[in-house]
Amino acid sequence: MSEKSSPATSKISTYMMMIVLIVLALSIVALILAINIFPSRPDMATYLLAIGFIAMALSAYMLLQSRKRVASMKIEAPKVMTTVECRKCGFKSVREFQRGDFVFKDLEACQKCDDKMIITAIYKEVKEKEKTYGV
Ligand SMILES: [Zn+2]
Repeated sequence: MSEKSSPATSKISTYMMMIVLIVLALSIVALILAINIFPSRPDMATYLLAIGFIAMALSAYMLLQSRKRVASMKIEAPKVMTTVECRKCGFKSVREFQRGDFVFKDLEACQKCDDKMIITAIYKEVKEKEKTYGV
């Protein structure tokens, strides 16, 4: 029930994109204005140029950041794994969860001793590298 993160993240990234586009548009307006008022007000034009460039750099930075975040969120989706074990010889294998799997379910014969194998564990695979969220 708690796995509804993907529509929310896409909503956030489109929201981010809109802010980035607005900032970018404002920076272009500032630059055009700076060029227009430069002959009459060179001091004001310098300020506008600086603001325009800072805003442009900021929007480019935000764009890069949001892309990075979306990419890392896609990687994060945890896999559900199933551990299959032979009770007789201890042969163990791990595979991806399949529909209908449950703990202690009997499966096909063991590859080694031909005894029946059972599912001993079903768990979510957690990757240990997603610790870079400093925000
Ligand atoms: Zn076995």
